[in-house]
Amino acid sequence: MTTPPSQQIPGIYHRKIGDIIVTAVSDGYLDGSLDVMRNVDLDAAHQVLKDAFRPARRTSVNAFLIQSRGRTAIVDTGSGNYLLPTAGMVQRNLARAGIDAKSIDTVLLTHMHPDHSAGLVDMSNGALLYPNAELVMHENEPKHWFDDGAMAKSDERGKKLYFQAGREQVEPYRKRTRLFTGGEVFPGVTAVPSLGHTPGHTAYLIASGKDQLMIWGDTVHVPEVQTAFPEAGMAFDTDLAAAAAARKRMFDRVASDGTLVAGMHLHFPSFARLRRKGNAYELLPEPWVHEFE
Ligand SMILES: [Zn+2]
Repeated sequence: MTTPPSQQIPGIYHRKIGDIIVTAVSDGYLDGSLDVMRNVDLDAAHQVLKDAFRPARRTSVNAFLIQSRGRTAIVDTGSGNYLLPTAGMVQRNLARAGIDAKSIDTVLLTHMHPDHSAGLVDMSNGALLYPNAELVMHENEPKHWFDDGAMAKSDERGKKLYFQAGREQVEPYRKRTRLFTGGEVFPGVTAVPSLGHTPGHTAYLIASGKDQLMIWGDTVHVPEVQTAFPEAGMAFDTDLAAAAAARKRMFDRVASDGTLVAGMHLHFPSFARLRRKGNAYELLPEPWVHEFE
C-alpha cells in the first residue's frame, strides 16, 4: 500500500557550469490569455500553442541560484505573495532544497516586474526575505520605476502593479543596493543589458572554464509563440520595438554560438538551446540528468 501523492516533489534542478553550480528554482506558474501579446496575429499565435499541445498560455516563473567561489546569489525572486496562488514558491522550494535564504549574499534582478521582484519582501508587511543580501540591478531600473513623470504616463493598472509595487519591493533594500551599467557583477557572472522589455532589463552570462550559460531573463514570455514570431511582444513591454530588437539580438547570439540558455519564463527547469528554423527559431530543452557533477 502506497500513499497517493498530493504535491509535486520540490521544483529544484541543479546544473554545473564549470566550477559554478546554477540551480533552477521554480516559483510556480501564471496562467493568462494571449490577448496581452502585441505585433502578432492572435489566430496564428493560438495555432502555435495548439500545435505544441498547449491549449492556453501557461507561464512558468523561475529564479536561479548561483553558487560561485564561496558566494551565493539568486537571480530574481519570483512573485512572492503578490500575484497568484499558483506562483510564489521560491522560498518554499529553497527551504526544501536545504538553502537558507539568509545565506544568500546577493540578489541579481533582471528587472523590476512583480513576477521577478515581488519575492524580495513579504508584500503584506514589507519584511525582507533576503535579509543579508545586496540588491544588484541595472541603473535604469530604479531610475525608471521611481520616476514620478514616467508613472504619471502609465495607466492605472501599470501605476499600481509596476511602479507602486516595484517601489515597495525595492525600497527596503535601498541602503544595500548596487547599480551597474554592465561588466562582471558577481564572481563568474557578467551583466548583458538587453534593454527594451523594461529600461534596464538585463540578462546574465555565467562563465566558468569552457562552460557558459545565458540566463536571458524575459527575452520571451510565451516561448512557443515568440520563437516562431520573434517580433511578437507583450502589452507590458515598456518599449515594444526595443524589446523586439533585443530579443532578436539575443536569439541571434545564442543560436549562432550554441550557448546554453535559461529563462524566467521557459518551462521549468528551462535549460535549453536555441536553433534557427528558417526565419524563426525553436527551443531544444536539455535532457534531464540525475548526476550533475
Ligand atoms: Zn516576467
